[in-house]
Amino acid sequence: MVQGSCLCKAVRFEITGETTGIGMCHCSLCRKVSGVASNASLIAGRDRFRWLSGEDQITRFALPSGWGTWRCAVCGSPLPQLMPQGGAYWVPAGLLDGDPGVRVEGHIFVCSKAPWDEIRDGTPQWVEGIGSERLR
Ligand SMILES: [Zn+2]
Ligand SMILES: [Zn+2]
Repeated sequence: MVQGSCLCKAVRFEITGETTGIGMCHCSLCRKVSGVASNASLIAGRDRFRWLSGEDQITRFALPSGWGTWRCAVCGSPLPQLMPQGGAYWVPAGLLDGDPGVRVEGHIFVCSKAPWDEIRDGTPQWVEGIGSERLR
């Protein structure tokens, strides 16, 4: 079990049981919403995810394409969000307050990484999503 929270702690959540490993997404959209070179996240099944507080503080933004971000209305931190298929939550790994027990498994959308972004760990790199062409 691991808990997570936003910067101001208004929004808190808990994950019980297994999650995926952590993926580092270098796509241009993730770079915009995170402000950093790649967005560290994991996926937790909806039945394993529970809001502890602040669910009423969630603001949602979406592009016309439907791609979007959930944020804390108080502090602006990115928050876990229900994935389009509805069966799981996408969880920003930086929000976790404890050790989720999983580690970085690889990098995705490496084809669109920033020119100044150098990936130095030895984990797999994919051109787009996991299962696309491997770069290494
Ligand atoms: Zn907050
Ligand atoms: Zn991305």
